[in-house]
Amino acid sequence: MTRQTPTLSALAATLFCVCLLGLLRLSAVPMTAAASPGAAPTPTPEPTEIPDPAPAWPSDLTIIEPGYLLKSPLLHTEIPSRPRKDVFVYHVTSGDTIIGIAHNFGISPESILWANERVELNPDFLRVGQEVTIPPTTGVLHEVKAGDSIESLAKKYKVAATAITEFEYNALAPPYFLTAGQKVMVPGGEKPYQPRVVYGYSGPLPTTAKKGFGAFAWPISGVLTQGYWTGHRAIDVGAPTGTRVVAADSGFVVLVRYDNFGYGRHIMINHGNGFETLYAHLSVILVEPGQSVARGQLVGLSGNTGHSTGPHLHFEVRYLGNQNNPLAYLP
Ligand SMILES: [Zn+2]
Repeated sequence: MTRQTPTLSALAATLFCVCLLGLLRLSAVPMTAAASPGAAPTPTPEPTEIPDPAPAWPSDLTIIEPGYLLKSPLLHTEIPSRPRKDVFVYHVTSGDTIIGIAHNFGISPESILWANERVELNPDFLRVGQEVTIPPTTGVLHEVKAGDSIESLAKKYKVAATAITEFEYNALAPPYFLTAGQKVMVPGGEKPYQPRVVYGYSGPLPTTAKKGFGAFAWPISGVLTQGYWTGHRAIDVGAPTGTRVVAADSGFVVLVRYDNFGYGRHIMINHGNGFETLYAHLSVILVEPGQSVARGQLVGLSGNTGHSTGPHLHFEVRYLGNQNNPLAYLP
């Protein structure tokens, strides 16, 4: 994903678009108009070999921890200096990732997931213009339900009760009555990871199905824009819309979906050896369910469909249904 230094007018236009999209979002308008100026389809030269697995990192990417990359802060929203005492509403802009936003606010990425149920439940989180609740600190921002008490929250999120009662944002005083709907920040609290629904294939095994070699090839040539972490059990590879996407290993297509949400247009390939790979946010799908594919075969073109903040391929490697780190299998 590329981003040029915005001129004032471009910035103003972007802000206008983001506000407009924020309004339109509720009526489920397709998000294609939100693509960044750099997202125009670009013809890609025919690769003769497996794509180079070691792309040169653009200068605005920095490694924040091994395997994770982050765009340098190019903030479109003024962020109050820390420590914050309040919940902040952040408007997603092109190229944003949960890790990047969390880094800018100085909190854990999981804290953002836990404060935004829709983001927590959606496979690929973000789209431009979306409002994301930023909790005041790392922990769980909990919406009180009937029957909740300070003690039950402390137990649920494994913190001391005083961590909740003494946190200024909560404005609590003895005897600490809670009201349903009230937001309570649980500093340092943790929520258990909830595995996402994994699509299964119930059809018969095609007789022509190719078995995988057990060695994966890079499915696309591009720049790693989001690594694998608890809330993102996949990798995102930024590439212009229309970039070739190839099967990472031989197998057969078990899933073809044309969704406008979540993964957008996506496919899944079963490799017949316990592995499945998933390719999401495609602009064009070039295979059908049940079709046999060879390692390196063209299966689609990358895009920005579904919940996506810029053209990229969301790539998952699943072994026996578990989403593992794709980087552990790629050359
Ligand atoms: Zn992703």
